[in-house]
Amino acid sequence: MMAAITAARAGAGVTLLEAMERPGRKLLITGNGRCNLTNTDCGLSRRYHGSAAALAAGVTQQFDAADTLAFFEELGLLTTDREGYVYPYSRQAASVLEVLLAELYRLGVKIKLNEKIQEIGICSDGEGAEKEPGKAGSWFVRTGGWTYRADAVILACGSAAAPATGSDGSGYALARMLGHTVIEPSPALVPVTCRGDFFAALAGVRCRARVSLVCDAASATRGKRLLASDTGELQWTKYGVSGIVIFQISRFISTCTRMEDLTLYLDLLPDFEETRLVRHLLNRACRAKEMRISGLLAGMLHEKLIPVILKRAGLSAKLRAGCLTQEQAGRLIEAVKHFELEVTGTKSFDVCQVCAGGVEASELDPRTLGSRKHEGLYFAGELIDADGPCGGYNLQWAWSSGYVAGMAAALDLRHG
Ligand SMILES: Cc1cc2nc3c(=O)[nH]c(=O)nc-3n(C[C@H](O)[C@H](O)[C@H](O)COP(=O)(O)OP(=O)(O)OC[C@H]3O[C@@H](n4cnc5c(N)ncnc54)[C@H](O)[C@@H]3O)c2cc1C
Repeated sequence: MMAAITAARAGAGVTLLEAMERPGRKLLITGNGRCNLTNTDCGLSRRYHGSAAALAAGVTQQFDAADTLAFFEELGLLTTDREGYVYPYSRQAASVLEVLLAELYRLGVKIKLNEKIQEIGICSDGEGAEKEPGKAGSWFVRTGGWTYRADAVILACGSAAAPATGSDGSGYALARMLGHTVIEPSPALVPVTCRGDFFAALAGVRCRARVSLVCDAASATRGKRLLASDTGELQWTKYGVSGIVIFQISRFISTCTRMEDLTLYLDLLPDFEETRLVRHLLNRACRAKEMRISGLLAGMLHEKLIPVILKRAGLSAKLRAGCLTQEQAGRLIEAVKHFELEVTGTKSFDVCQVCAGGVEASELDPRTLGSRKHEGLYFAGELIDADGPCGGYNLQWAWSSGYVAGMAAALDLRHG
């Protein structure tokens, strides 16, 4: 939609082909229906992963968060900023979609619905002879019921994340059909699955945690390597862990080939020093000698976590506080601050928010997102191998890359 608006504003006649019964279905479920549409983080351009990480910096600078805010304000959307996370003032993703659709209609963009693209290629001319491959003005786009002709094509089919919204991964097949390399997609911003017999008991518990993902490959000469870490609210589930703090590191799990090399370490009291916590426990133990040890932890941790921590520390819940030794207090706090989890993988594309992987960025012109293989072919959005963290970064990538591809396609047509 952003590519279509930009190209149309620059004077191109644009047709938007959408596989679903309406465009923007994914947009409607973003930010839990509230749409975190960008982030005012001044380091935004450096937050992307994938082969497009370097290219993303230039693209997001061509159309940055301030441009996004100005763009939407011009379309009539009021926004609100919560610590850099920008939402529509209405707190409704539907508002964002409404203003985009209104602008598409105003510009006369033809929107063709239920038109799933099945093939894109170079047209042959009237006499049946092939035109020079990739020459602008020679594209056909075939859907189930129609074949469209185009001077330029912008491929913006999204990824394989949340396929029920329309992005079913078919864009990757189209890109491959056109000779582009696609880095195998894997789920990102997704819950993580772990091995353990205590998850059912903890399901539903939320707590603050610092999460560190460590790779300890036997073959690696460098020993343990910290792949990613983050602090925030963690949610325990019956299969493992979830929540934004887990989403942020999940791409490093789904893109890893050997799960047995990965360990998640949780610090369940990240705002307190280890020595301070040991002292706190021992002081409490002195004042409440008859209390059970589980009672000592009651003011520090969610009640459902306490038996799990005690088991990990090898201590009986019946132990009286008065009997707690310094060594035992140390072990307890060690279990709280270095809670180890055996990772088995991530949940599937159905529940992830974005994909790692996509069209290999070295095959794109970083200034225009035009294909280096075919003149008149452009890429935008999550179909490209770029993924950002939670917080509005992925939609900003969609706005920025859509703007860049839309503008370049329209200008090429003007000058070509
Ligand atoms: C639950 C959830 C919450 C999210 N929340 C946020 C958030 O708050 N902030 C944020 O920044 N990001 C969020 N994201 C990520 C963000 O929504 C995506 O990164 C963004 O929508 C990608 O935009 P896109 O245009 O590249 O792809 P999409 O939004 O997926 O759009 C692609 C479109 O192409 C259509 N299409 C696909 N294949 C074909 C075909 N063969 N022919 C014709 N049409 C086709 C699809 O139907 C779809 O309409 C969230 C994602 C999910 C799943």
